[in-house]
Amino acid sequence: MIFNIVTLFPGFLREPLEMSVLGRASRAGTVEWRLVDPRDFTQDRHRTADDEPFGGGSGMVMKAGPVWRAVESLPERGRVVSLTPRGRPFDHEAAVRLSLEPVVTLLCGRYKGIDERVTESMVNEELSIGDYVLSGGEPAALVVADAVVRLLPGALGDHDSAATDSFYDGGLSAPAYTRPREFQSLEVPEVLTSGHHSAVARWRARESDRATRNRRPDLLDLNAAD
Ligand code: SAM
Repeated sequence: MIFNIVTLFPGFLREPLEMSVLGRASRAGTVEWRLVDPRDFTQDRHRTADDEPFGGGSGMVMKAGPVWRAVESLPERGRVVSLTPRGRPFDHEAAVRLSLEPVVTLLCGRYKGIDERVTESMVNEELSIGDYVLSGGEPAALVVADAVVRLLPGALGDHDSAATDSFYDGGLSAPAYTRPREFQSLEVPEVLTSGHHSAVARWRARESDRATRNRRPDLLDLNAAD
């Protein structure tokens, strides 16, 4: 899978994209990161990528031209996703959907956002990572890239398989424990140390159900509607 990321701050992303699961996936050839800086597609000697908003008001707006030319320069752009608080909420379903695309291009805004004509002319969908406002799309790009890449075949080892994580089967996951058996006078649930695999599976299913009912009943309603 190829991830193009259009950003005025490629340095913000380089290191996280080469660490842990994302880095391993890139070294294994499962994913390829291509960072593109709209500033390299400006046409004035000051490399101006932003300008004042039409209609006045505070803040600057990312100019359409440099972003548009940055995307046009890509050999393959695939599905173009703009990261914006105005987008549809990003969730597990969206991560699965994007993981099936061979190429995804993420647009990171800054300032008041990207000139809307970029969205009108070349964006396939707008995604938000939550109801709050970040200073830039880069953290959102990392969230989307991480959630998508961990779903790609071979990206995760057995020890951190996505299939036992929250949302994969619709609900929240059961809690997890590791050694020591006793910590701060708190014991691990006995069934987990019993060696009875079917009993462990039943306990996990029960705990998963309990957590979903208590914390996210909205997920049960969603599953019921499917
Ligand atoms: N004026 C925009 C608004 O109110 O909708 C906010 C712009 S924000 C300061 C700058 C950039 O950060 C956005 O263009 C977007 O790329 C990114 N961003 C901020 N919050 C985000 C969120 N919740 N999800 C995805 N991207 C976000």
